[in-house]
Amino acid sequence: MELGDVFVYHGGRYVPYRDAKVGLLTHGLNYGTGCFEGIRGYWDAVGLQLHFFRLREHFERMQRSCRLLLIELPCGAEEMCAHTIELARLNDFRQDVYVRPLAFKASEEVGVRLHNVRDDFAIVAVPHKSYFDSSQGLRACVSSWRRMDDNTAPARAKLTGIYVGSALAKSEAHGNGFDEAILLTHDGHVAEGSAENIFIVRDGVVLTPPVTDNILEGITRASLIELCRNELRLEVLERTIDRSELYVADEVFFSGTAVGVSPVVEVDRRAVADGTIGPVSRALANLYHDITLGRNAKYGSWLTTCFAAEVPIEPLAASA
Ligand code: PMP
Repeated sequence: MELGDVFVYHGGRYVPYRDAKVGLLTHGLNYGTGCFEGIRGYWDAVGLQLHFFRLREHFERMQRSCRLLLIELPCGAEEMCAHTIELARLNDFRQDVYVRPLAFKASEEVGVRLHNVRDDFAIVAVPHKSYFDSSQGLRACVSSWRRMDDNTAPARAKLTGIYVGSALAKSEAHGNGFDEAILLTHDGHVAEGSAENIFIVRDGVVLTPPVTDNILEGITRASLIELCRNELRLEVLERTIDRSELYVADEVFFSGTAVGVSPVVEVDRRAVADGTIGPVSRALANLYHDITLGRNAKYGSWLTTCFAAEVPIEPLAASA
């Protein structure tokens, strides 16, 4: 399927991608005054069903991002979920899907501000491509770029402008031969990856930076905290993490919509523990995988199914 042919939601209508256009002077493009979401739809090839993971929670985060940017959304979370499902049906996506809702300051005029600027909203859904292969574990480095500080631009929300920092860090890491970057806060504590939250395991306790350490308030992160506590019966602490704890951790892993649970086996060319994927990372990755494919009824409420269940065809009764 050509991208131009994919149906998207824009301007209150479902239109082909090629017809959903913005101009060069669009405020959000010039000043980073937009926010977005990244949502995964998981195709279950056995049940022939597409499952969106925590769809409503993503749109609720988008509502919070919009509050920060004084963007008025044209509809509520329920309706945004319904438009996403409709896009999957219109495009007949019977494969993994990535959904990108986008809200932005849309006036085509010069002048940086948030007030008195027209807002626009779109949802794009496309077939999903793997972000990176983490089956053997990732090699990460601590970036020389610091995570944006809350008093510079609020990193807890998914604001487009914030991602210039992620892009700088990711390309630096890539240029230096690593898979991913770990960004520190301005005061030198571990924040997160370029597009992932981070967890470490020390002596059986799972640690992740608190939401007050300039992290994005990740939806996968919140889900994994619940799974660690309720399924793996592990203690989870949301606390500030020192850089050097990365070097002495038993396990390190990233979490996020694009990457799921991605184990890190090396930080700054030092092996994490024995340099192989650890048991907590592996158990969580398996749990998460099953949940996203609808194979764990306990967490069925985390999924939104897209297609009507196939009605089994009854064999015709033999005539008497
Ligand atoms: N941090 C950043 C900077 C991200 O871009 C993402 C991906 N959205 C995450 C963390 C993980 O968040 P989530 O689990 O909600 O995808």
